Amino acid sequence: MECLRCGANMKSIGVEQLKLGEAGFITGSWSGTESGGLEVEIKICAKCGKVEFFASELEEFVEEAECPHCHNMVDCEADVCPSCGRKLYREV
Ligand SMILES: [Zn+2]
Ligand SMILES: [Zn+2]
Repeated sequence: MECLRCGANMKSIGVEQLKLGEAGFITGSWSGTESGGLEVEIKICAKCGKVEFFASELEEFVEEAECPHCHNMVDCEADVCPSCGRKLYREV
């Protein structure tokens, strides 16, 4: 991982649990986990001091949309509904 600002190597300083809804860091479009929090890895650039957060479990926070044909909840990134096989149209 390279620093976006200066290109130096960033080093991980640990993983922290962020609570959804606290401190305004995340504004709630994620439907939440069992723990109600999000695990983030904190990395810091030794050169310029820039700090970045990386969600370590981001794949789990898939947004879902309702299929207009069969009304099942499907991954909103999908082009085709996995339940009925019809094309999904997406709002942009
Ligand atoms: Zn840097
Ligand atoms: Zn469908």
